[in-house]
Amino acid sequence: MLDDMDKLVSLCKRRGFIFPSSEIYGGLNGFWDYGPLGVELKRNIKDAWWRDNVRMRDDMVGLDCSIIMNPRVWEASGHVGGFSDPMVDCRASKERYRADQIFVFAYVYPAVNHKGEPTEAWLAGLGGTPEEAAEHVEKRAAKLAKRFGQPVGAPSIIPYLKLEPNDRDKVVGPATEDRGTLTEPRAFNLMFKTFVGALESESNVAYLRPETAQGIFANFKNVVDTGRVKLPFGIAQVGKSFRNEINPRNFTFRSREFEQMEIEFFCRPDQAQEWYDYWRKARFQWYVDLGLKSDRLRLRDHDPDELAFYSTATADIEYAFPFGVSELEGIAHRGDYDLTQHMKFSGKDLTYFDEERKERFTPHVVEPSAGADRATLAFLCEAYAEDEVGGESRTVMRFHPRLAPVKAAVFPLVKRDGMPETAEAIYRDLKRRHNVFYDEKGAIGRRYRRQDEAGTPFCLTVDSQTALDGTVTIRDRDSCRQWRIPKADACQALDNLLDGLPIPGDA
Ligand code: ATP
Repeated sequence: MLDDMDKLVSLCKRRGFIFPSSEIYGGLNGFWDYGPLGVELKRNIKDAWWRDNVRMRDDMVGLDCSIIMNPRVWEASGHVGGFSDPMVDCRASKERYRADQIFVFAYVYPAVNHKGEPTEAWLAGLGGTPEEAAEHVEKRAAKLAKRFGQPVGAPSIIPYLKLEPNDRDKVVGPATEDRGTLTEPRAFNLMFKTFVGALESESNVAYLRPETAQGIFANFKNVVDTGRVKLPFGIAQVGKSFRNEINPRNFTFRSREFEQMEIEFFCRPDQAQEWYDYWRKARFQWYVDLGLKSDRLRLRDHDPDELAFYSTATADIEYAFPFGVSELEGIAHRGDYDLTQHMKFSGKDLTYFDEERKERFTPHVVEPSAGADRATLAFLCEAYAEDEVGGESRTVMRFHPRLAPVKAAVFPLVKRDGMPETAEAIYRDLKRRHNVFYDEKGAIGRRYRRQDEAGTPFCLTVDSQTALDGTVTIRDRDSCRQWRIPKADACQALDNLLDGLPIPGDA
């Protein structure tokens, strides 16, 4: 298991999974690009999601909405008025923080210092999660003690937002050595604004969508009228969303441009609780089936005071990242809030007529809302392993075969004796079905190692025996086990291996 994010960030850069966006110009905070391996990995995750949640079901249809919509959508949804985070600026360092991500630590203070001089209470602020804050308490306390007097006793960690306003003046900001440099928390709307058309006037303001969900609600009537769908049913969408996050951090975990995979599942009000329970479990299991170990995954039900006012229940699927336990997906029971809001703002009837029961009502909604980038990051963290093979250490990405960016690599052992030709023919054959890779350069051990780092589950090698008996060596990434199969069976063997089925001819 990965313990240090820096290792993953450097592997992602080195092997072409993820790069900082526009890196040659110094990058842009909160934006990331997926390289040749990363784009395949993320696409496989989105495809697995689409296949399992849309194609394989009878009660789900897909949708692909525009990113910029009529701004009234965001008034109806509450995003124009309320989609904000409390923001705090530091007047000295010019840093900007999310107020809910500043923690202060407070000690019991002696009234005088060791020289007998009077001391004043001070509170030191630390950015990040409570765990990160706790980790850095001692270091920061030692530094600030010289200036403000030695603290005594065990520190208690208090969220900044829970401090009395006049105690906030005593806080030394996370990046300063002075007190009282932090401004009062202010609401900061996270939506990116732009203008549609030639005029940059208030009447032309539009927003980049901060979630894909609202496009689904706005199209509910279109889908019901044309999709021959019957309650209960869901509408699914995968696409980019944008949030001007105050503090993008933890690699791609909190980005300003990201992709979501969202479902709005519509049902009768009296069945909503049942569907909520269903989706809560089904979505958790999806991650487990694709390789996230359940001891690092957690399904956390929100406390009543965490719930949005319209939601009767919400659960988060969380993963224990090296930087802390954090949200991958939220499953929310949203009642009829969204459709009711859009009816109010659009004046259109978004109720549903149940033909069987001859009843008209506003459907209730269960929303499983996942992030493709966060899922990708979790699968990357989970896959990362360092082990030893034949006395040599290696880094190996143990992706589930469904997610692995490259499914197999084909090598000629050496670049002569017809081996490259045979290997290339196998490669061409496999390539019709799977993303495979051909490599004839360098020592065979190095070529294996490179594929281990890319997470390629299988390697096929053409060697001198191939010309004699028509067999090739196949090597398994995780166990490093090698065995021979007829080269004519290569395609079928790979299909079976990727599907977890027995291989033809394997004992
Ligand atoms: P957080 O509390 O971490 O900001 P959220 O509760 O606001 O997340 P939702 O609005 O529920 O998130 O969004 C649904 C999903 O979209 C999240 O579970 C996450 O996977 C993804 N997501 C949201 N914001 C970001 C972001 N800034 N970067 C990457 N993914 C994100």
